[in-house]
Amino acid sequence: MIELRNVSKTVLSGNAPLTIVQPLDLTVSSGQYVSIVGPSGSGKSTLLGLIAGLDAPTTGEIVIDGVEISGLEEDALARLRGRKIGIVFQFFHLVPSLTAFENVLVPLEIAGAPHASDRAAALLSEVGLDDRAGHYPAQLSGGEQQRIAIARALANEPPILLADEPTGNLDSANGRHIVELLHRVNRSRGTTIVLVTHDSELASGTDVTLRMRDGRTERLAPAPLREVLA
Ligand code: ADP
Ligand code: MG
Repeated sequence: MIELRNVSKTVLSGNAPLTIVQPLDLTVSSGQYVSIVGPSGSGKSTLLGLIAGLDAPTTGEIVIDGVEISGLEEDALARLRGRKIGIVFQFFHLVPSLTAFENVLVPLEIAGAPHASDRAAALLSEVGLDDRAGHYPAQLSGGEQQRIAIARALANEPPILLADEPTGNLDSANGRHIVELLHRVNRSRGTTIVLVTHDSELASGTDVTLRMRDGRTERLAPAPLREVLA
């Protein structure tokens, strides 16, 4: 579903090139739940942005559901993202002037989805917030706002969900609820998920865990073969 070959990212820091993602190969199959852990500044968000096509790699190829994205024009990339990828962020990014229901409805209407209202209602129910449909984001707790953001990200049934520190702004109880919700989405919808977090506890129970440090990735779980044998 997601394939990275020799992908790296180098930026200019002052005048000096700085490699923030070292060359990396990664294959995520359909329905897999992958977590990426590592300290702040290790390159996790940059890597997720590359997978999302929000940022272009310096080297390598990224294939999303069979489509090599580095060759795509901005328009085509945006269309592909709209169809294939839902994204949630640490700070929710809901539209403050729209209700919870409207925040979920908008992407359905933009996509011209049939029965958009019914589907928005079903999505709110899926994240356990039918009773908050008429509330504005400012009237909702952080955990509720994140659940709305997840419902919105799932509106057009993308095969891939990318989550960048989705619990980073929540207390631990709400954080756990969000992680449980993501597990449920992965199991019930078969959505391929890549979760980025600096909290390795939140990564437990995912199919594969990668650790990033200084732009380098290392597989933590399942343990690489050499560690199993050692
Ligand atoms: P993480 O999400 O793990 O906290 P990031 O991917 O946001 O890490 O950033 C990795 C490193 O790259 C950080 O040190 C950050 O300051 C640096 N960085 C990110 N984007 C740029 C950029 N456009 N120019 C220079 N440095 C950047
Ligand atoms: Mg980050």
